[in-house]
Amino acid sequence: MKILQINEIRKAYFLKAFGREPEDMLIISMGACNYNCSYCKRDGQFKGNGNSILNAYDVAMDEIFGVIDKHITAGHRIRLSGGDPCMFPSESLQIAKYCWNKHGQKISLAHNGSSPSLICTLLPYLDYVAIDFKGATPEEIARRSNTLVNPASIGNIMQIIDMCQQTGVLVDIRTVIFGDTDTDDLGSIGHKLSAYNNVFWTLRKYNPVIGCDFLPAENDIRVMADRLSNTYNIPVGYRDKWTECNFYISYQFCA
Ligand code: SF4
Repeated sequence: MKILQINEIRKAYFLKAFGREPEDMLIISMGACNYNCSYCKRDGQFKGNGNSILNAYDVAMDEIFGVIDKHITAGHRIRLSGGDPCMFPSESLQIAKYCWNKHGQKISLAHNGSSPSLICTLLPYLDYVAIDFKGATPEEIARRSNTLVNPASIGNIMQIIDMCQQTGVLVDIRTVIFGDTDTDDLGSIGHKLSAYNNVFWTLRKYNPVIGCDFLPAENDIRVMADRLSNTYNIPVGYRDKWTECNFYISYQFCA
């Protein structure tokens, strides 16, 4: 399987809003993606031509299992992450089954929201997931992900949340806020999420990336998080960066 890296630890802070202690996750960052976001990923440009993630390399599954053993023993949750696990469905299932059968651990997953079938297959092995909601309309998702408009894209995300709700899997919905993000569009996402009790909504401020012409947001995202949380009665958070981040949870859900 192609991976970008397999040694990063991040905290699942959003768990706090559901009364769980934030826990460390080992991030298995996969080496291909079906989206082509011009702001990929974090502070750098890592997406290459086609589906490739720059600097991804081949790793044998046995090697991955060895790393997993070490990290589960150290108390870490295993998270499959982007690139995107939907590019490696059979390997993702193999890893999920390994974690469950050998260690009794359900995994976590970060996914761009395009593949209900991936989530359906992995569902029995999932504890919590992070799902991208990159825009309120198929056109907006296509623009942010630099792909063709897929009329089913919003339906796909909602189908994923539905499946997770029915099986008790917690969902951290992630939306990057740009300078031209429309407030009404955010309201439309908030309205959809308000039908669920297993959903947390993480807003991320866009940090400019060389070669990407999206404008950075000027707003105070914490104020935005509180407002959306109040309006739609769902927990909303703000994450300023991936590692060593400040993580803010809307005040009425942070106790
Ligand atoms: S979905 Fe994530 S990994 Fe894929 S291109 Fe977009 S930012 Fe990069």
